[in-house]
Amino acid sequence: MSSVSSTLPTSTREIQLASRPHGWPVPEDFRLAESTLPELAEGQILVRNVAMSVDPYMRGRMNDTKSYSAPFALDAPLDGGAVGEVIASRSPERVVGDVVVHSLGWRDYAVLPAAASTKVDPTLAAPTAFLGALGMTGLTAYAGLTQVAAFKSGDTVFVSGAAGAVGSLVGQIAKNLGAARVIGSAGSPEKVERLLELGFDAAFNYHDGAAKDLLQAALGESEGIDVYFDNVGGEQLEAAIGLMNRHGRIAMCGAISQYNSTEAPVGPRNLAAAIGKQLTLRGFLVGSYQQLAPEFSAAMAGWLAAGIITFDETVVHGLENAPAAFIDLLRGANTGKMILTLG
Ligand code: NAP
Repeated sequence: MSSVSSTLPTSTREIQLASRPHGWPVPEDFRLAESTLPELAEGQILVRNVAMSVDPYMRGRMNDTKSYSAPFALDAPLDGGAVGEVIASRSPERVVGDVVVHSLGWRDYAVLPAAASTKVDPTLAAPTAFLGALGMTGLTAYAGLTQVAAFKSGDTVFVSGAAGAVGSLVGQIAKNLGAARVIGSAGSPEKVERLLELGFDAAFNYHDGAAKDLLQAALGESEGIDVYFDNVGGEQLEAAIGLMNRHGRIAMCGAISQYNSTEAPVGPRNLAAAIGKQLTLRGFLVGSYQQLAPEFSAAMAGWLAAGIITFDETVVHGLENAPAAFIDLLRGANTGKMILTLG
């Protein structure tokens, strides 16, 4: 079975990795190029990308080091989460007009096996939501909080990177599931203000002083932290370890404070405190929690429809602006999910 829309593109613009960043990425590390699209083989689809996800983990893949996902190749297109419309199909699983999520972002058009795409319901939310709150970002927040950190009602929760895509959802989910107190940290007064609007009980700007003092003040009457959802690592992880309650749980989601470092990290220097407090520090990858996707999707769709959870997006338009959007993300220009719209 095959279906096509009237005029099909024969080539696509794409962003290639021109050089591996040393420290902070610069625009010259990226290149806008044009490449010919292959003919559709049996089982494949052609997708017109509508939006792509801009994610911190992509920085790690720009290094030529062994990690949990393969490094990007030089002089080849980058990839990553994207959402788009099927405009030609040689698969019985997809028809023209289907909206799909897939992993060939950083380009206007993508040819891929239909089986490597996930069909989404565009009546449920705008396409970009399937890259954020209803997608990998939301599942990261949900799985990290409920499974990795074993959150329970009555816990006091601290989340760093709290005004970002994952962090803003973590705080709201925790509040909704009965957290006693939710504290967030972020990098500007405007973001702190936004966290309070989203229902966080307290929030601080981590640039305002030593993380341990700011966190202690934000704890207020609470004795200590039961759950720390760590998006940033470094000084804030050290501060959290120092203020964790006995049997506290730390979900190690990301360490963005170190992604562009050219030197070895300084801490946490108080890791031994985890022994006496009997803490659990557990790293995780969202890819290991796919089995939770149906439960998560149903819960999140309900929360969004009821207005219990809201999400912010920072939207940049145009493939040519993708490198700048990525660099800006690492510098904290985004509130909520960083999205690049295409077309
Ligand atoms: P995000 O939080 O929306 O964007 C990144 C944010 O990091 C920026 O907006 C910036 O906000 C903050 N930041 C940058 N440098 C920082 C520093 N030195 N110290 C503290 N904060 C800093 O990104 P996201 O997609 O939601 O990802 C959040 C974290 O989760 C990242 O570490 C990411 O790698 C991780 N992650 C992990 C998984 C997994 O499976 N384990 C999946 C998705 C994401 P400020 O203005 O507040 O500094």
